[in-house]
Amino acid sequence: MLDKFYNLFSRDIGIDLGTATILVYVAGKGIVINEPSVVAVNKKTNQVVAIGSEAKKMAGRTPAHISVIRPLVEGVISDFEITEEMLGYFIRKVHQDTWQALARPKVVVGVPSGITNVEIRAVRDAAKNAGAREVHIVEEPIAAAIGVRLPIYDPVGNIIIDIGGGTTDIAVISLGGIVISKNMRIAGDKFDQDIIDYMRDEFKILIGEKTAEDIKIAIGSVSKTGEGLETVVRGRDLVSGLPREVVVTDTDIREAIIKSVRSLVRATREVIEDTPPELISDIMHRGIMMVGGGSFLRNLAAVFGSEIKVPVHIPDDPLTAVVRGTGIIIENLEKYKDILIQHDDELPPK
Ligand code: ADP
Ligand code: MG
Repeated sequence: MLDKFYNLFSRDIGIDLGTATILVYVAGKGIVINEPSVVAVNKKTNQVVAIGSEAKKMAGRTPAHISVIRPLVEGVISDFEITEEMLGYFIRKVHQDTWQALARPKVVVGVPSGITNVEIRAVRDAAKNAGAREVHIVEEPIAAAIGVRLPIYDPVGNIIIDIGGGTTDIAVISLGGIVISKNMRIAGDKFDQDIIDYMRDEFKILIGEKTAEDIKIAIGSVSKTGEGLETVVRGRDLVSGLPREVVVTDTDIREAIIKSVRSLVRATREVIEDTPPELISDIMHRGIMMVGGGSFLRNLAAVFGSEIKVPVHIPDDPLTAVVRGTGIIIENLEKYKDILIQHDDELPPK
């Protein structure tokens, strides 16, 4: 009865609460929000100044009293209150055209695998305080597998690698559950940091995170691409303190990030080594599914494939795999009930 009442005003939603990107899927509609998970805060008043794309534009360009925060850096909620505000903002945004005070949606949230109970509770509380009436939590690798329509309920092994901003998730899934997984703090942000370090050590110039990410996207690769790529980079000369321009090539960037890439390959190999033999043969046959923004790095999939000797596939739109999965789950909650980490019973009305 109450359910029917709330359904008049609420749209059930699936959320990919990523460290770099937050995406929201509205049941029956599709993806409606795709924005950086970034918040700008006024440190004097402790008030949120901007959220999402608007806040990201401010990064590195703020006066002293405003700081631009990524509340989920490292894949977990490092800043609970800000995460809650951000979630609330996006949940309200979805309900803009309905009677907001009565919007109490059911929400499915994807979280990195291997997150602790405390962190799970933090995500759940953040979503609830942000207005959700039921919060369901799913591990992102499972959501991604559902999103790219892998047969997760079959007795066959599927392996998903999700390379995001703060974390990389590597997981083997069979019979609707994670058989083995690894969560690493090496992903897109680490590549950016590698580039900052490399520019400082080799070119003696200081660049910011945004510039490092731009370079990575413009010319980054993991093995030779055939065409030599280069870009002009502006930064601050470490000796003179003045602005300086240098030309950086794809070879430089490969050198900068190679160690981190090797760590990811090694971790994947370890996961495969720990995988039961029956599932290994499935994986060799079916290959690895690679998702997340990191999968766009040139030749990353090819290098993984040749190092691990297993074919690597990237689906159409690897950035949205997780949120599409949460969307499929919210539209079929009964069917997917058993794969959710936690089910919350209906809350009493506010
Ligand atoms: P999360 O799930 O942690 O929010 P995403 O899956 O959205 O992360 O991926 C974000 C990461 O992907 C960032 O580090 C970003 O720099 C990186 N990325 C996005 N596009 C590209 C690209 N074309 N080449 C390399 N890296 C990319
Ligand atoms: Mg992600």
